Amino acid sequence: MAEIYDLHCHSTASDGALSPTELITRAHEQGVTSMALTDHDTTNGLAEARTAATAKGIRLIPGIELSVSWHDKCFHIVGLGINPDYPPLAQATQDLQNVRMERAEKIAHKLEKKRIPGALEAVKHAAGDGMITRTHFADFLLSQHHVSTQQEAFDRYLGQGKPAYVSTSWAEMSQAIKWIAESGGVAVLAHPLRYKLTANWMKRLLTAFKEAGGQGIEVVTSRINADEIKLIAGYAASFGLAGSKGSDFHNPENQWVELGRLAPLPSAIKPVWELLEF
Ligand code: AMP
Ligand code: MN
Ligand code: MN
Ligand code: MN
Repeated sequence: MAEIYDLHCHSTASDGALSPTELITRAHEQGVTSMALTDHDTTNGLAEARTAATAKGIRLIPGIELSVSWHDKCFHIVGLGINPDYPPLAQATQDLQNVRMERAEKIAHKLEKKRIPGALEAVKHAAGDGMITRTHFADFLLSQHHVSTQQEAFDRYLGQGKPAYVSTSWAEMSQAIKWIAESGGVAVLAHPLRYKLTANWMKRLLTAFKEAGGQGIEVVTSRINADEIKLIAGYAASFGLAGSKGSDFHNPENQWVELGRLAPLPSAIKPVWELLEF
């Protein structure tokens, strides 16, 4: 049977709509055979995902998507095959939870100034034990009819430079890569085209990423075209990085993104799963 990989997705432990069990069940229905749960800055969904994956016969790769800062910009590094109990990594996720809570308070304050009260209580309630993300704020703005789509919430309030944007110091990129690598995992640069970097900055980023011990880059993600895959595959080849593929699935209501529904990795690229021990 052909292997179907999806090495990037989210559960209710961060900003996904499905619990880890529901997510694994859906992945199984979609024919996924190996998947990584990669919640934002937390590994809290992994234990439940492990139980569900064992029941469904899915190979679960423990993962995380770390928010990192580099040159005052935010990037996402996916860690695959991490050990969530590695103390520096576990400490980092706790610290990031505090960073996210403090940021949430500031975002809510800025929304209040725009005469939108009640955001903090709403996002805390929606996130429950999970990480609070801007997705929770977007959903709140949607539910209160301040916007009519999630995208509009980012465009009008939450995106960089918008009234409720709060710039945040995340983990330092090289430090985050070390936590991942030292816990036994592989660091992968997530969705490289989403940062809108010039070619020159992309090269600087990848140089720094590689020097810090980064080993992979997401070559195939959802809603990507053949030219974009080719472009990223070129970066992978130039920098000696393995290629990953992941849907970045968050919510079944998004009809454009489905677990495991991904273009093949170009054959010239070394698949990142060859670096992972199972
Ligand atoms: P945070 O890590 O809290 O800043 O939240 C980032 C999350 O917000 C991302 O992982 C996406 O799930 C979501 N997001 C970011 N930008 C957009 C956008 N323009 N439209 C919809 N969702 C977005
Ligand atoms: Mn997200
Ligand atoms: Mn991301
Ligand atoms: Mn993601």
